[in-house]
Amino acid sequence: MGWKKKPCAKRKTEKLQASENNMTDVNCIFCKIIAGQIPSRKVYEDDEIFAFHDINPWAPVHFLIIPKLHIASVAHATPEHEGLLGRMMLLAPKLAFQEGARPYPDGGFRLVTNTGAEGGQEVHHMHWHVMGGPRPWLRG
Ligand code: AMP
Ligand code: ZN
Repeated sequence: MGWKKKPCAKRKTEKLQASENNMTDVNCIFCKIIAGQIPSRKVYEDDEIFAFHDINPWAPVHFLIIPKLHIASVAHATPEHEGLLGRMMLLAPKLAFQEGARPYPDGGFRLVTNTGAEGGQEVHHMHWHVMGGPRPWLRG
C-alpha cells in the first residue's frame, strides 16, 4: 500500500490534516484531484474536505464529497474520523441545495457511498455521491 499514517493519539474532535499526517496515496486518482494534479470542477474545499462534480453525472446535480485524508472506504473509517464524517454529512444538503437540488420535500437529493466491489465501488478513496435535480435521471 502506498499510504501510511504516523501513529498519533489525536482526540476525535480534533481535525486531522492530510498534509501533516502524510495520509495520501500517490496512486489514487482522488488524492491527485485534491492535489490539483488532475483537474476537477470544484464545488467546495476546506482544510479537510473537498467536493467536485462527477465527471460522468447520473443526475442534473451530481457531485462527490471526499475527505482530504486517503480513507479507502467508509468501512475503513475509525472513531477518530467521527467528526470528519459528521462534517461531510452536514455539507451534503448545504451543497446539494447550493448546486441546484430543489427544496425538501418535493425536491431533495440522494446521498450514496458505494463500499467495496459488491457495493459498486470503483474508486477506493471514500466518496459520497450527492445526486439531485428533476427526474428522470440517467441512473439511480
Ligand atoms: P464509485 O463507483 O462509487 O467508486 O464512483 C466513482 C465515481 O467517480 C464515478 O461516478 C466516476 O464518474 C467518478 N470519477 C472518476 N474519475 C473522475 C474524475 N477524474 N473527476 C470526477 N469524477 C470522477
Ligand atoms: Zn486517495
